[in-house]
Amino acid sequence: MSTPTPTAPLHELTLTQQSQLLASGQTSSVALTRHALARIEAHTALGAFLHVGAEQALADAAASDARRAAGQTLGALDGLPIAHKDIFVTQGMPTTAASKMLKGYQSPFDATVVAKFKAAGAVSVGKLNCDEFAMGGANENSAYGVTRNPWATDRIPGGSSGASAVAVAARLVSGTTGTDTGGSIRQPAALTGITGIKPTYGRCSRYGMIAFASSLDQAGPMARTAEDCALMLQAMSGFDERDATSAQQAVPDFLAALHTTRQGATAAQPLAGLRVGIPQEFFGDGVSADVLATTRAALAQLQKMGATLVDISLPRTELSIPVYYIIAPAEASSNLSRFDGVKFGHRAAQYDDLTDMYRKTRAEGFGPEVKRRIMIGAYVLSHGYYDAYYLQAQKLRRMIADDFQAAFKVCDVIAGPVSPSVARKIGSQTDPVAEYLADVFTLPASLAGLPGMSLPCGFSESGDHGPLPIGLQLIGNYWQEAGLLHTAHAFQQATDWHKQTPTGLS
Ligand code: GLN
Repeated sequence: MSTPTPTAPLHELTLTQQSQLLASGQTSSVALTRHALARIEAHTALGAFLHVGAEQALADAAASDARRAAGQTLGALDGLPIAHKDIFVTQGMPTTAASKMLKGYQSPFDATVVAKFKAAGAVSVGKLNCDEFAMGGANENSAYGVTRNPWATDRIPGGSSGASAVAVAARLVSGTTGTDTGGSIRQPAALTGITGIKPTYGRCSRYGMIAFASSLDQAGPMARTAEDCALMLQAMSGFDERDATSAQQAVPDFLAALHTTRQGATAAQPLAGLRVGIPQEFFGDGVSADVLATTRAALAQLQKMGATLVDISLPRTELSIPVYYIIAPAEASSNLSRFDGVKFGHRAAQYDDLTDMYRKTRAEGFGPEVKRRIMIGAYVLSHGYYDAYYLQAQKLRRMIADDFQAAFKVCDVIAGPVSPSVARKIGSQTDPVAEYLADVFTLPASLAGLPGMSLPCGFSESGDHGPLPIGLQLIGNYWQEAGLLHTAHAFQQATDWHKQTPTGLS
């Protein structure tokens, strides 16, 4: 790891490097936080932040500096500016889930993940835009406007954690939280050239994470490097008695895992002995030529580093789309029933009776994609259709998970593309089903509950656009985040795709 020179602009530094500067007394948390706030202010046109809590952030930064000066025990993220996706409820800052339904909503408590970041000393500077209730893959479904990809501001950053990716890619802050139900950390990470990991389902608490599809939703870190993801994931992970689906699973030392040496490894071949499974279904017709070529080059790089490539099959990959788009809306229709104008959030101003109040509140409060999913969900769960759709989807979900277990008998990690193509233009996709199809490579790991990550592996450049980032997806077996991070870190030691800054960004 390179030690930053004191002259490098603070925003160019990773969390790890910023932390080193804090430790050596070359900067302060207040200086880092002021710098982040100034960059956020200078780049409001990207549409990344829904709320900036400057005053509180500066107070928290000053408190961190005081802890450090007094020689108190510090957290792993002490003094580091970060920001949360607006799906996590936060005390003292509004939480909207990018929906009109929750405009101005103030939570009386912090999500567990938010509380864990505070306990680790991180300074939260604000809340990040996303697709409404995390439904989408382009950040175009926010009630508060689009978020722009810093690599080409007329293009989407991906979604639903689009602004979490943009804030890191544009060097506003060096780490953010995201959530991933069907790809929402991995896909925006890929489309903006950053690193993100969706842990195993159950690794991080969902308490205070506004629910979209409860059996799929997972929190995870988004940052510039695997090393920073390890640092953040360490702080976020662990059993929480307030989330019945969080797992009683020991949390390994993710940072230490980055530096472990594989048996038989050498400096030139740090991945010796690693068997990388290549699912044939991830390299088919639907993938654009630039993504295919770049992903293949990344696989060759892994091979050069000592890994062995193994052909595998995940035969039900395509079925992940209908299965996910039955199960996720079914759970969403149930989860979103709580937004009824009574308990919290928006309420219609005028109505005749209670039923009319519900109807008008929900018609006004939800955007078109959320309504579409509630309707699909209610339909597939309804009497007479349940067996044909929901039950069938559940059976296939199990088979998809079994396919992965068969694959993991012959490989340690699975690699392939994240998204079939690079970031498209804002407003260029009006067919929701076509949009759903682009999730084909992220949905399988989500349905199986497996950890998956995206790391930068190259760029596409053509006559009609400048460089656009491409991500490599790594999928591991249950609880194998440490292995994924180790592989990604090794890759990042040998390549510099993750170090590229969006061209033209001031
Ligand atoms: N794009 C997928 C969807 O629209 C995934 C979203 C997510 O992971 N939150 O449902």
